Amino acid sequence: MKSIVDSFLDLVKQRNGNEPEFLQAVEEVAETVIPYIVKHDIYHGKNILLRMVEPERVVTFRVCWVDDTGEIQVNRGYRIQMNSAIGPYKGGLRFHPTVNMSILKFLAFEQVFKNSLTTLPMGGGKGGSDFDPKGKSDNEIMRFCHSFMSELFRHIGPNSDVPAGDIGVGGREIGFLFGMYKKLRNEFTGVLTGKGESWGGSLIRPEATGYGAVYFAEKMLETKNDSFKGKNVVVSGSGNVAQYAAEKVIQLGGKVLTLSDSSGYIYDAEGIDSDKLAFIMQLKNVKRGRISEYLEAYPNAEFVKGKTPWGVKCDIALPCATQNELNENDADTLINNGCICVSEGANMPSTKAAINSFHNAKILFAPGKASNAGGVATSGLEMTQNSLRYKWSREEVDEKLKEIMANIHDSCTEYGKDENGYIDYVKGANIAGFVKVADAMLAQGVV
Ligand code: NDP
Repeated sequence: MKSIVDSFLDLVKQRNGNEPEFLQAVEEVAETVIPYIVKHDIYHGKNILLRMVEPERVVTFRVCWVDDTGEIQVNRGYRIQMNSAIGPYKGGLRFHPTVNMSILKFLAFEQVFKNSLTTLPMGGGKGGSDFDPKGKSDNEIMRFCHSFMSELFRHIGPNSDVPAGDIGVGGREIGFLFGMYKKLRNEFTGVLTGKGESWGGSLIRPEATGYGAVYFAEKMLETKNDSFKGKNVVVSGSGNVAQYAAEKVIQLGGKVLTLSDSSGYIYDAEGIDSDKLAFIMQLKNVKRGRISEYLEAYPNAEFVKGKTPWGVKCDIALPCATQNELNENDADTLINNGCICVSEGANMPSTKAAINSFHNAKILFAPGKASNAGGVATSGLEMTQNSLRYKWSREEVDEKLKEIMANIHDSCTEYGKDENGYIDYVKGANIAGFVKVADAMLAQGVV
């Protein structure tokens, strides 16, 4: 089996040699899915995985805009349309200086499996730009978003490709992007998700990824007759996903000890309660400040510069910042400190070696493509509401989100439980996600 997997990966490496994040994501899937393909005649010999690692279409484009000093800036825009076998391309836009083809292809590839797991009819895509929103004025953000959409609009549509937010793209950016799309197309359609509540957005969409990661962890804990009540929880990031993961942990009776950003982490031994979290939301979403400013309001807390929070003793860890933010040493530290559960809110935050450590220690570990699927699932619910021209209540959307997370947990269990009862959620998520897409691809022929 190893030689089949290795020769497949060699081929993918030859074609994508300078894309380390993409290769990392493909390797993780190949190792679990190829053994399944080999055992199942309907998939064997059809080069399905080879077809799945090749994007159906990649668009790159120039984005020119004028900054507040009058200088012309040039950025690069991308949209990766990875797989449309089960529905229109769907996946976020990331604005961050590290954005490149490798990062977007890894995200688009993971998105295909994630979207399949939600059971909603959505294909996979991802896009973004190397534009850095940090320190930019609202007007600069608007000019950039308008310029970005003045090219992207010809490649997307409510029935072909429906982008959403990701790192650096929140409600403000979606508003500017939607405004330009609407102007250019002269139509009001659900072409983006994460829209504002009064113009087509779904209730609970902003909360959905963070809430979903916690609902998934709750399901994992239930398999051990355990819960969040009284647990110490370490969260990384302080953006959209981290904020709402923290909010749900607090609601379920857990104690949030940390949050972070790219400059370091804050540790509050007394716990970040809902009042403190409201302060952080104001700081991050309105003032657009740095996490270290938390200490100005809560001087008993500590700020640890330039570090991730994995050294803080905890029961549960929720990585919600970015890819490869938790390495093997971090995983070993978490395990040695008694951590029993890791649920990824971010995409691929744990390195491959870190995941191996979690598996070897037999702790509960959920990969992002399963545990953070609540965001895109609720985007799917936003698309449905837009098509119906209808709006569900908060409670209705939250109930559907919970049900979807429970279903994803069941799918992972179905394909990932070993003979000793340990659930390998990575294997479960990869195979469950693969089967639905592969079946659709087989039915549609070689296209
Ligand atoms: P935001 O932009 O709202 O927040 C990102 C957070 O991560 C910020 O605190 C940011 O700090 C931190 N961060 C970003 N890059 C780095 C880095 N290189 N090192 C350390 N910290 C970093 O993004 P989201 O919360 O939306 O996204 C977070 C993660 O969740 C991403 O992996 C994203 O792909 C994933 N995700 C998001 C979904 C969504 O619905 N938004 C859906 C599914 C997954 P700083 O401000 O200093 O940059």
